[in-house]
Amino acid sequence: MKTAAKSDLYRKLPSVDDLLRETEIVALAAHEGHAAVADAARAVLTRLRTEISDGHLDSAAVDVAIAGLAGAVEHQLRKALSYSLRSVINATGVILHTNLGRAPLLSSALDHIRDTASTYSNLEFEVISGERGKRDVHVERLFQKLLNDSFAGEGTRAAPADVSTIVVNNNAAAVLLALNTLADGEEVIVSRGELVEIGGSFRIPDVISKSGAVLREVGTTNRTRIADYESAISQSTRLLLRVHRSNFQISGFTERPSLQELVSLSRKRGIPVVEDLGSGALFDLNSVGVSGEPGVIHSLRAGIDVVTYSGDKLLGGPQAGLLSGRRDLIARMRSNSLFRALRVDKLTYAALEATLLAYIKRDHEAIPVLRMMRASKDEIGKRAEIAAQKLASAALKVKIADGESVIGGGAAPSAVLPTRLLAVSCDDLSAEELAERLRASDPPVIARVEDGRVLLDLRTVFPDQDDVVVSALNRASRR
Ligand SMILES: *Cc1c(COP(=O)(O)O)cnc(C)c1O
Repeated sequence: MKTAAKSDLYRKLPSVDDLLRETEIVALAAHEGHAAVADAARAVLTRLRTEISDGHLDSAAVDVAIAGLAGAVEHQLRKALSYSLRSVINATGVILHTNLGRAPLLSSALDHIRDTASTYSNLEFEVISGERGKRDVHVERLFQKLLNDSFAGEGTRAAPADVSTIVVNNNAAAVLLALNTLADGEEVIVSRGELVEIGGSFRIPDVISKSGAVLREVGTTNRTRIADYESAISQSTRLLLRVHRSNFQISGFTERPSLQELVSLSRKRGIPVVEDLGSGALFDLNSVGVSGEPGVIHSLRAGIDVVTYSGDKLLGGPQAGLLSGRRDLIARMRSNSLFRALRVDKLTYAALEATLLAYIKRDHEAIPVLRMMRASKDEIGKRAEIAAQKLASAALKVKIADGESVIGGGAAPSAVLPTRLLAVSCDDLSAEELAERLRASDPPVIARVEDGRVLLDLRTVFPDQDDVVVSALNRASRR
């Protein structure tokens, strides 16, 4: 196309001001505000100019575009004013999916957030005395009850009756705070088998160096004995750190000391032991058929001085990092100025308080991730069958197959739950294309692709979303 012709095409385009005077656009501006509509009009015209300059539009195409300008501006406006963060349907069967926001919140948490955050609150205010208060009191009392009560009735061991808990932004921050408080400028001993990287660039050696502590590695990748810890202890050792391996397993010729061995070494030498538990369940995982996964209470009972864990993994609450343990050590962390930098806001306290109350009421069904973990394979299979019957499209081939849901979020990597899957293929589409169309539907449906089929696990789909998944599949299979 010749340059001269291009300039003719540019001249056909209205100015922004002309465009804003058109009836449809005036109506749009009355509704959505002049500034936003003007931005959208400018963006649409700029895009058209670019297309002309790239030689993508001839004279007829420009006429068509001009006829559709009002529609294009409205479309652009909707896009600009829509949320980027939005709800999706998780049909992957991974319960704690970090990319999909980990734990969905329970409904009482949302009510409590609305009640306390849409007005003023007593976040740091003692209502009775009228004096300044502390934000951590709101959950401290609940953690006290959940963690200390679990020692009552134990009988065997003197309860560390004084477990206290503080909250920071996430578990990475909790580990950082513990290290900086207890071992700044001094040594922390960690097994070489636990120098892990958790997704999203949380690496134990890096966090240790950022905390100001000095890493003293002991043992080997596959085997570390208590004697390795013992012989590494020096004048400058301030901490023993145990890290949950979270997302990988070491099998075969392996060894690591038990919690009891670590605790007795720590007591003998007067050096505290901190455990980064990662997921940190507050309920008995055996009750959902997952064994060998230590919970918060298990570690505290074993005598670990401080455990750190996430709020939005197995706890099923908001993003947060929890530090629970010996009151004197937690008090030191609370008075560290890093604690102020890592503190959480009122939304987190509200969501956490509601989550903990559900535990105290033993209302495990109220907590979405617990409900999902407790759902039986039969229950999920029945929902899958009902969904399969509603799949009307002739192009779809549907089978219901045995499979496994994954707990995820750095619980034991082997922690899987038996499930029933909808295994779907479509005549005219590859499995990847079908999965892509599902992601493009509104709300997006996220599924797995395996062996040329799309696999949907209803364990992680809320039951009132089953029909949405069905219609997304029906629509996606249409030509
Ligand atoms: C998940 C995990 C972390 C990071 O926790 P965040 O809450 O995501 O910051 C740290 N350590 C372990 C062992 C984990 O599993």
